[in-house]
Amino acid sequence: MTITTTSAADLSTALQAGDLTSVEVTGAYLDRIAAEDGELGAYLHVDADAALAAAEAVDAARVAGRDLGPLAGVPMALKDVVVTEGVPTTSGSRILEGWRPPYDATLAAKLKAAGTVLLGKTNMDEFAMGSSTENSAYRITRNPWDHSRIPGGSSGGSSAAVAGGLAPWSIGTDTGGSIRQPAAVTGLVGHKPTYGSVSRYGLIAFSSSLDQAGPMTRTVLDAALLHEAIAGHDPYDSTSIDSPVPVLAEAARRGAEGELAGLTVGVVRELGGEGHAEGYEPGVLARFQEAVALLESMGAEVREVSCPAFDLALPAYYLIAPSEASSNLARFDGVRYGLRAGDDGSRDLDEVMALTREQGFGPEVKRRIILGAYALSAGYYDAYYGQAQKVRTLITRNFAAAYADVDVLVSPTMPTVAFPLGSRVDDPIAMYAADLCTLPASLAGVPAISVPCGLSEGLPVGFQVMAPALADDRCYRVAAALEAAQDAARGHRLLDELGRTAPGSAA
Ligand code: GLN
Repeated sequence: MTITTTSAADLSTALQAGDLTSVEVTGAYLDRIAAEDGELGAYLHVDADAALAAAEAVDAARVAGRDLGPLAGVPMALKDVVVTEGVPTTSGSRILEGWRPPYDATLAAKLKAAGTVLLGKTNMDEFAMGSSTENSAYRITRNPWDHSRIPGGSSGGSSAAVAGGLAPWSIGTDTGGSIRQPAAVTGLVGHKPTYGSVSRYGLIAFSSSLDQAGPMTRTVLDAALLHEAIAGHDPYDSTSIDSPVPVLAEAARRGAEGELAGLTVGVVRELGGEGHAEGYEPGVLARFQEAVALLESMGAEVREVSCPAFDLALPAYYLIAPSEASSNLARFDGVRYGLRAGDDGSRDLDEVMALTREQGFGPEVKRRIILGAYALSAGYYDAYYGQAQKVRTLITRNFAAAYADVDVLVSPTMPTVAFPLGSRVDDPIAMYAADLCTLPASLAGVPAISVPCGLSEGLPVGFQVMAPALADDRCYRVAAALEAAQDAARGHRLLDELGRTAPGSAA
């Protein structure tokens, strides 16, 4: 078994059986990080000694016969938006450089309690604003499939780490697509849970009514296992849903049996269908249609569904998210956290705050703050923010109407494959268009998964499955069926082709 290409589920089995130790697994990943991350740029912070110490502690507990959970000893990586006690956390921003939080986010605490080993914190667009990870204040991240291309964003460090064999799985966050889109362009599985089902406590807030954390993994089963480990009600998060942790791994295992009789699948016309295919690459649409045909061959009933308000998701999102960001980011004032600029006695408080924000925030973050403050300002609120909220309601109604007829909705995850680094970073509108397909589920708070559905021009394409709120299990069932059928036809996992196409990217 090559440790760094194995699924997390298989690593867990080997660890429990005593065939591998956590020190061996963690060491193998740390070696690859040391060898590859200079080029790939997936991580912002790695503490090898701390990771090995945590791995040793799990191994010792296992030898002592202590009752450990199934994930104990499996390493993982966290997007740097997740607050970790004593471990640097920047959210990709200069304004938080050097900050070591005094507490763990709920999901980090859950993963720690489960015995997982933190390899490091992954690179991201500053405050999760972006679709390519090029807005990080620290470094760019390369796509393991083609080092001249983006790994997606904003969770591009998390996607590159897993696709490149630098972590078995990782946590990302998704406000408008930042788990699903990077998963799609790196050949991974990425799931955005139902809003409110994974705690936001300790996630550095971007847009509070949209932010959700979720798994980024090599297989659907891995995503289900990691999702189950972080889900659940949290009294520290006022929007946390008080319902039982969903049964997801079971849904993934059942889905992999490939029986979809009785399931109705709606293909969303507005996301790449007839009359709405402008900007969609032919190769992406071809892979998508082949996957739909595969679902049909497994017994699913397929019909086209129209959700007209989805056409307005992009402008609505780019008013609502910046509005909430402009409010959330007001806390970065140079007084409470991280950077403080110009505090040499010559300036008053307002000047120090202004200088800190001037130096601490990058151009995209400033653009969002200005946009959001404008959309919320007296006289413009109704025309912009209020109007966008009405569109949000229409999108939610479109989903509700569709789910009266179908069990899940499907679309491509992104209109294109990974684009070249540098090609959109100076063109915000083109960058925002990367989120066309992922935004509706974000605005409605419903769950959505991206699962690989083949290659176009040698690069991965993602297939998106959306389900009603709290029916995340349906996403896993359909994604697992698709994954199993495609893996069987191919004879191997899509990710296993990475070693052949990008030498040195997967050991
Ligand atoms: N790309 C979108 C944005 O820039 C979504 C980001 C995200 O989901 N965090 O806002």
